[in-house]
Amino acid sequence: MREDLEAAGRRVLERLEEAGYVAYFVGGYVRDRLLGRPIHDIDIATSARPETVMALFPDSLPTGIRHGTVTVRMGDHAFEVTTFRVERGYSDARHPDEVVFVDRIEEDLARRDFTVNAMALDRRGRLVDPFGGREDLAARRIRCVGDPMRRFSEDGLRLVRAVRFAVQLDFAIEPRTWEALQACRETLSPVAHERIADELDKIMASPNPGRGFALLFESRLFAADDLAPYLAPPAWPDLAALAVPEGRETRWALLALLLGWTEHQAEAFARALRFSRERLDAITTLVGLARQGCPGEGEARQWRELLLAHGLAHGLALADLCAARKAAGGPDALTQGRAAAARLRERVRAIYAAMPVHNLKELAVNGRDLVKAVGRPPGPWVGRLLNELLVRVAHGELPNDKDRLLAYARERGDGT
Ligand code: ATP
Ligand code: MG
Repeated sequence: MREDLEAAGRRVLERLEEAGYVAYFVGGYVRDRLLGRPIHDIDIATSARPETVMALFPDSLPTGIRHGTVTVRMGDHAFEVTTFRVERGYSDARHPDEVVFVDRIEEDLARRDFTVNAMALDRRGRLVDPFGGREDLAARRIRCVGDPMRRFSEDGLRLVRAVRFAVQLDFAIEPRTWEALQACRETLSPVAHERIADELDKIMASPNPGRGFALLFESRLFAADDLAPYLAPPAWPDLAALAVPEGRETRWALLALLLGWTEHQAEAFARALRFSRERLDAITTLVGLARQGCPGEGEARQWRELLLAHGLAHGLALADLCAARKAAGGPDALTQGRAAAARLRERVRAIYAAMPVHNLKELAVNGRDLVKAVGRPPGPWVGRLLNELLVRVAHGELPNDKDRLLAYARERGDGT
């Protein structure tokens, strides 16, 4: 797959060069290739103007034409091809006032955030590295291109990106960059929360989210932002267990629990970050359930009721959450937590598999059957009785058999 993607990318570079322009692979692809990390996409930079790129590649779309970006299809792959550019004036520390196209790759690389992201590779494999990106890769450090104070003042999102790359790559943050990051925390305030959320999600999904949040807290990065009530705690617990849960939402729920947020606070936080309704619900449900108490391995009854009410996915997430929370702060929280989570998930899966029914659709009777059998007008009693039957069948107290369930219903009446 990787061969294919790179070969298709080289063909894009070739076509641009044949038309008399210069073109390079840039950004994350160059960094990840030099590190031997998996490649998911390739960005290209060129001296050709966007109109020219569109003309050279009929199968292209003007996805970000104002910033000089055209999406080009080549074979089975798509590439973002961006004209060499610089940004002038950052009056709101958020969006550059003006994009200016330039002719040389070195100028384009100079506008990029970190040295390891500011390298270009041509199709013959020649590296353009004016800021010592390769050296910083070898030393495993995140360093701003140019003066860190200036670069962070231009765009506050770079503050969070520095932490994001440090945890994704397991790099250190170079001391001057780290100092400037703390000195520039005010520049984060005007940055759109959606963009911050993307970076925080990447930190949360990384191999070591605990280190990421510890860096964010230690730098007091959010002290001047609306998110301060959540993300600038005066003290914080050991966060290593954040890497235990498999799901991102479960990890967010765990952070909420470790920092002592209520369900309400978790919801307000998810709202402030503009998380989707679905994500917000998942996080707050998990926080709510865990705060009510985590059923243990032996408490099959409680797990069954939880699985009926919330489904298998939430049940497994809760197993992860409970195990991680229990291991948090202890010696070797990560290894212990992972082992405990795997055990508890296995147990929840087995409980689910052994349940004769998992939802009302699987129950041998429906509401209409009950109304007919009991001989009363429909009302809230129908739902209540259905649910009672479901729970009893799930626990194995009644068989999932239509006649037996109707006989039980007739005996029980409408429950009044
Ligand atoms: P990923 O693998 O997560 O996509 P990436 O390095 O490709 O990592 P992107 O956010 O996709 O990161 O950005 C692509 C490139 O654009 C970066 O490598 C960097 O050179 C440049 N870049 C992106 N955002 C900024 C920014 N806020 N300031 C300066 N340069 C940036
Ligand atoms: Mg990218």
